[in-house]
Amino acid sequence: MPEGPEIRLAADRLHKVLADQVIEDAEFTLPGLEGAGKRVRGKRVERVTCHGKAMLTQFDHGETLYSHNQLYGVWRIARRGNFPRTNRQLRVALHTDAHSALLFSATDVELWPTEHLAEHPFLKKLGPDVLDESLTAAMIVSRLRDKTFKRRSLASLYLDQGFIAGIGNYLRSEILFQAKVPPKARPADLTKTEIQRLGRATLTISQRSYRTRGVTVTQATAKKLKQQGGGFESYRFAAFGRKGQACLTCGTKIVRDEIGARRLYWCPTCQGPKS
Ligand SMILES: [Zn+2]
Repeated sequence: MPEGPEIRLAADRLHKVLADQVIEDAEFTLPGLEGAGKRVRGKRVERVTCHGKAMLTQFDHGETLYSHNQLYGVWRIARRGNFPRTNRQLRVALHTDAHSALLFSATDVELWPTEHLAEHPFLKKLGPDVLDESLTAAMIVSRLRDKTFKRRSLASLYLDQGFIAGIGNYLRSEILFQAKVPPKARPADLTKTEIQRLGRATLTISQRSYRTRGVTVTQATAKKLKQQGGGFESYRFAAFGRKGQACLTCGTKIVRDEIGARRLYWCPTCQGPKS
């Protein structure tokens, strides 16, 4: 499943071909959206961004195309006129002079007034996007201390899109490892230093993964791991997927647990008992 960094990279690719471009032609094939093509035709795209797993294509006439890929949806970009060979169902096509942005298979698509986007039933439930430029470590710390969140386990909180949107399974393990906090601890159990470290790690790890297209460890660590052989999956993480391998910090074997029905990897020494 793509997480915040992968979704933002997809939004960036769409932004690159659509931003400041006029939509010369548009198609919406889902029931209820028959008239949407007419509404965006001739309009200019201002920007493409994302919030959690929602893709938001904002037009200059005051509407935003909201789309959520769920499990199967995918955006593809093609040169105009070069329709990709696929068995997937086309849901949305936005054609500029040079390119086509094509949404396949997704069923969760809406045109929504931009000024009321915050009231969208899915978006209004989300916490801040982890890669939003205005999000700070102090804001994360204050959410961790909020009574809504502080008595829940970190393992469950760090998959809750209402806490922070865009964090998924691999980021959860990597952030908690970097912050040296036990997955089963609650924010209320942590010291001030730990909670601040967790706030910082949440941003650092997510932003690094976005910048490096999915590598959560430092460049030096990635280089060291690469020398041991293996592909991308073997050097991008410090904890995730490394069950039974030595912790890069202390040498203890990394443990795998199922928490919240999703696999979580952690070091019992570095992230030592807290509850
Ligand atoms: Zn360790």
